[in-house]
Amino acid sequence: MLLTMTTTHKPATDLGYLLHKNPANLNTVTVAFGVVHIFYPVATEDCCTAALLLDIDPVELVRRPSTHGQSFTLDQYVNDRPYAATSFLSVAINTAFGTALAGRCNARPQLVDREIPLLVKLPVLPCRGGEPILRRLFEPLGYELSILPNLVDDRFPDWGDSRYFTVELSRTCTVREFLTHLYVLIPVLDNDKHYWIGDSEVDKLIRFGEGWLATHPDKELITRRYLKHQKSLTTIALERLTDETEDDIAEQEEDALPNNQEVANINLNDARLTWAQNQLSQCHAKTVIDMGCGEGKLLQRLVKDPNYEKITGCDVSIRALEKARSRLRLDRLPASQQSRITLIQTALTYYDKRLTGYDAAALIEVVEHLDPSRLSMFERAVFGFAAPRTVIVSTPNADYNTLYPTLPAGQFRHHDHRFEWARAAFQAWGLRVAEEFGYAVEFEGIGPCDDVYGTPTQGAIFTRSA
Ligand code: SAH
Repeated sequence: MLLTMTTTHKPATDLGYLLHKNPANLNTVTVAFGVVHIFYPVATEDCCTAALLLDIDPVELVRRPSTHGQSFTLDQYVNDRPYAATSFLSVAINTAFGTALAGRCNARPQLVDREIPLLVKLPVLPCRGGEPILRRLFEPLGYELSILPNLVDDRFPDWGDSRYFTVELSRTCTVREFLTHLYVLIPVLDNDKHYWIGDSEVDKLIRFGEGWLATHPDKELITRRYLKHQKSLTTIALERLTDETEDDIAEQEEDALPNNQEVANINLNDARLTWAQNQLSQCHAKTVIDMGCGEGKLLQRLVKDPNYEKITGCDVSIRALEKARSRLRLDRLPASQQSRITLIQTALTYYDKRLTGYDAAALIEVVEHLDPSRLSMFERAVFGFAAPRTVIVSTPNADYNTLYPTLPAGQFRHHDHRFEWARAAFQAWGLRVAEEFGYAVEFEGIGPCDDVYGTPTQGAIFTRSA
């Protein structure tokens, strides 16, 4: 695994001072999983390149206590970890260039804050989400990128591109800043980490994220992935990143979706909201409740329509509700508007009187977040107890997942999905619920329709019979 950093700052050999590694020597440091060599293929006044070569000992990797349990699995032995830029490389950067990361340069302290032209090359960088995610993470920080997908096998070009890229990042900045961004973002791109994530990892993220993460447009994605999708840690970290900007992650499910899917995905999110809006308007609802409203994107559209007298959003997540509050600018609305809108924290698996009495309810991409064992309680709470005249439901169509080229078979689009229904399963569920609770039901597709697999999202409109 290789990383090179080049500068043309003059004298370029200042890079040796900044990295605390003498260009004349081969420097070797040991890490738990192998050795790191730092050497300089070029070191002149005009150009200096430092190379970090991480030589992972694959046998040592297998011997180390694993979070996957002790049993033998083939992927312990056959995997990309020795070759690809992953969290192992981050640890190597921290070990080899710890002094530079800490912003110290004993020999030339005046150099630490000097912004110099830097080019970093990573020949095998895995990136979950592909080029769009790479750009989204680095471009807001001022990097220029050159991105080339690596073939699966040079000898068989027909096999197409792999999930690895050759990436060049260039920017004029301090060495410390560059290394900090690499340290945090390499494992974020890979969407995995080889070590256990605990509370101290939040501290580390806050420390390394100082001055850039709080204002990064994708700070939530970065935080979530950096903390290996551990919800409680992510919530704590995001709360600590107080300098919050209105973030607008296009789609909660984006990081599960593959290369070049991003744009389609944003459009799909839009299509879903438009579908919901149309359905609610067609049923002439005056009072609506968005159940599992998340960050309030549907609510934001509904408030613009004066036909709605009462609009409520509910969600189990306080954080989501806070975001909805700020998205809707609730605190700044005139009193007459404020009285139309209510946000409630509740779980849809309980009888909650506050959810009763509405003309219509929307459940957009919510049902698949419920544990299957809680589904029957959810049905009773929503269709039996709250019992709005109209209930609209949207959920992923699992049949369509085959068309996402990098979503492995059997995997869900989002890590928090507890299941994803194929069309037949969703319709069977809808018909049974309609029958049991006295509703009529119709099904619709949402998004571009494939002849075989249907649409990416499926919808149902339940109308109470009496
Ligand atoms: N409807 C929104 C958000 C979808 S994400 C949109 O389309 O953008 C799913 C949402 O359901 C999350 O905000 C999650 O907090 C919420 N949720 C999951 N389980 C829930 C439950 N049992 N009760 C209420 N909300 C729940």
